[in-house]
Amino acid sequence: MPRGDGTGPKGQGPETGRGMEDIGQKRGGRGGGFGAGPSGDCLCPNCAERVPHQLGTPCYKVKCPKCGTLMIRE
Ligand SMILES: [Zn+2]
Repeated sequence: MPRGDGTGPKGQGPETGRGMEDIGQKRGGRGGGFGAGPSGDCLCPNCAERVPHQLGTPCYKVKCPKCGTLMIRE
């Protein structure tokens, strides 16, 4: 049994830290911006205007504020 080395008991420390690090990375290091989820922007296929997608209102029911074309989900 190695004494003073601390390899055995110390192994628990780094292991725990690693697990938390993994979760942190998977939750996304970037600030987000790709609207591939439940939230995002609606895009005008005519003039490329973007408006924030509103909950309960599908993009194809929203008219572009600029040109009046029905928006699409980005
Ligand atoms: Zn438009």
